[in-house]
Amino acid sequence: MGYKLRKQRLNKKLILSLVSLIILVVITIAVSINSVFEKKFEEYIIKNNKNEVSNLINSIQSEYMDGRWNLYSIEKIGENAINKGIFIDLYDTDQTLIWGATTYSQDRCNKIMGNIENNMNHTRSNWHGKYTEQTFSLKNSSDEVIGSVKIGTYGTLYYMDNDVDFLEEINKVITIIGILMTLVTVFIAILISNNISKPIEVVSNMANVMGEGGFDSKIDYQSNIYEIDTLISSINNLSLKLEEQENLRKRLTTDISHELRTPLTNVQTHLEAMIDGVWDPSIERLNSVNEEVIRLTNLVNQLKNLAKFDSEKNKLNLTEVNIEKLIKNIVYNNQGCALEKNINIMMNLENINAYLDKDKISQVVVNLLSNAIRYTNNGGNIYINAYEEKENIKIHFKDEGVGIPKESLKYIFERFYRVDESRSKETGGIGVGLTIVKSIIDLHKGKIEVKSKKNKGSEFIITLPIISN
Ligand code: ADP
Repeated sequence: MGYKLRKQRLNKKLILSLVSLIILVVITIAVSINSVFEKKFEEYIIKNNKNEVSNLINSIQSEYMDGRWNLYSIEKIGENAINKGIFIDLYDTDQTLIWGATTYSQDRCNKIMGNIENNMNHTRSNWHGKYTEQTFSLKNSSDEVIGSVKIGTYGTLYYMDNDVDFLEEINKVITIIGILMTLVTVFIAILISNNISKPIEVVSNMANVMGEGGFDSKIDYQSNIYEIDTLISSINNLSLKLEEQENLRKRLTTDISHELRTPLTNVQTHLEAMIDGVWDPSIERLNSVNEEVIRLTNLVNQLKNLAKFDSEKNKLNLTEVNIEKLIKNIVYNNQGCALEKNINIMMNLENINAYLDKDKISQVVVNLLSNAIRYTNNGGNIYINAYEEKENIKIHFKDEGVGIPKESLKYIFERFYRVDESRSKETGGIGVGLTIVKSIIDLHKGKIEVKSKKNKGSEFIITLPIISN
């Protein structure tokens, strides 16, 4: 059975997770602080109560002078002790009661005991304190026994009212700090989650706009999160690329229809004129028609080449190739076209062997050379250099032709891109030659650069890594 994921908005989910985490952390911290504090406080009270008892014994002993008890002071000490939850009965050596807490004030003793029980039951759920009595013998400075004292308390740990007040005060402070911490961190959590979710929402809206063809819109949002910022600039970049591709596609449709229409119209006018008897079907006229048909066939062939290249794009058939021989062969085969324009091709080629896809690299040389011839004026020069440099093969194609305008340089490797002015009949490419060149060089993990100046000439520089078998 399919499990359906419940979808939540990102910022709601982030806020919920962060807030639950914060509450958990705050409660854990508060409970730990509280329990550590209570434990320390308990230890302190136990130590304090023990000190009270021994101080009490010392005070009582010091009130015995010249064989007599100072009853006035003993009463003060006893009364004070009752207030601290300590109940004393003082006896002389023959066990006669000299001063007793309960005898002094039963009501007061009961009230204090009741308070202690209340306090302890209130602060400790498992308190089973028992009233215990201990008897200590009393001695004077000459170490003679002068009597005894019975001291009654609720064990060693018991809280008086002010201890409980203090504990409650501390708990209140911890709770307030906990609530404040939670509020502040919840506020920060909301800020953080908005910081993350808002730009994602912006990016997703932008993706929708792009999906509907709005490539010219850009995300104008600054984020202080590196990854989000990168995502935004990637989307902006993507939209730029899509916009460029869309423009190229439009341009391609116009270009192809233009390229096909011109020769077709020519053929049509020639044939119609001949059918209507306006023109004789002379050899020259038929040749002219034939030239247009050849031009059309060339165009269609180039399109077919491109399609073929696309389908075997990733296949490289590496064999050992001699660069010098390969270039020379192609130059000789194209010498005819160069001679027609009285163009001089000068070569300076090192004898380099390398593992390359021979057919594909030949295609690169053919395309670059035919471009150089095509875009060089009559009587110009073309220079081809090939040499080894730092584990790479470098091949330069330099011409003294029409050059490429600066603003067109970044587009010339794009499919179907042609610099407008070059769209003349003699320079009959369809703007895929350099696209193919670049793809082949990329496949060989090399690179191609171009330097060009309008009306001065262009230079294409290929760098191919030398692959040893
Ligand atoms: P095409 O088949 O139209 O020549 P390419 O892809 O080979 O297409 O070249 C794209 C465009 O780059 C050409 O239309 C041309 O304007 C320009 N270009 C290419 N090579 C040269 C060159 N050597 N000199 C001047 N312009 C060039």
